[in-house]
Amino acid sequence: MYQFKKVIDLQHYITTLKSKGLTVGFAPTMGALHEGHLSLLRMAKAECDISVCSIFVNPTQFNDDSDLEKYPRTIPEDIAILTKIDTDIVFIPPVSEVYPPSLDTTLKLDFAELATVMEGAFRPGHFDGMAQVVNRLLDIVQPDKLYMGQKDYQQFAIVQNMLHQLDSDIKIVRCPIIREADGLAMSSRNVRLKSELRQQVPRIYQALLKVKEMAPHFPVQEIKDTFAESLDLPEFRLEYIEIADGETLQPVTNIEEHKSVVACVAVWAGDVRLIDNILF
Ligand code: AMP
Repeated sequence: MYQFKKVIDLQHYITTLKSKGLTVGFAPTMGALHEGHLSLLRMAKAECDISVCSIFVNPTQFNDDSDLEKYPRTIPEDIAILTKIDTDIVFIPPVSEVYPPSLDTTLKLDFAELATVMEGAFRPGHFDGMAQVVNRLLDIVQPDKLYMGQKDYQQFAIVQNMLHQLDSDIKIVRCPIIREADGLAMSSRNVRLKSELRQQVPRIYQALLKVKEMAPHFPVQEIKDTFAESLDLPEFRLEYIEIADGETLQPVTNIEEHKSVVACVAVWAGDVRLIDNILF
């Protein structure tokens, strides 16, 4: 596996590969890699000639300094695990390479209602920072295909919309959510859960399965109330549950009227914020 820290070196290598007609599949990550990330890279490897992973904890998408500070960083382990699954390239740039002072990387796009609901409502500025870094990384890596997880459903919808607005040729692939055996969606933040809470958090997925089961038969509000009740524990704080159109992400009132519907949730378990979703 080739490792790069500098944009110029990575670009030079990728240009050589592309001039030989090789295709590039790219999965951007913030590191502390787990099976969810690896599933993206395995898919990139299966569908493209070259798989590229970036590891960059992007400061512009954190709306909370202590969250940024506490974000797990495990670069040596990440490199070992990427080598093991035969990833071709890992790009681990410092902030100064992604955001050089001489370059204006701000993205002037409007994601309208896609970005005002759910995560957008609770994490102001988060999606602007996320879109900014994804756009910058795409400029650097120049992939043919971009692999992102359904785990961050709204993030995926916004990046898809960004590519559309930019008239980009890059194909975006949505990869399914990878879960622990007990149903907890894998996340780099899970390592921060204290052991008693770790035992409680699979309730989130259990409650989402219940939401899916109720969906065809019950009014939306009743479904949301049932979800909230099943997480009514002192250690949990439900930030939101939204039942939304799978494409526009706007709240639905009548599930039957929509082609795809997604239930998205954000739950605080102690001081760890978890998100999850289910499509139906
Ligand atoms: P992150 O490192 O959290 O920024 O995530 C990098 C990419 O991995 C994003 O496209 C996520 O949606 C994806 N991802 C994170 N967790 C999972 C998971 N449990 N299953 C599938 N994809 C995931």
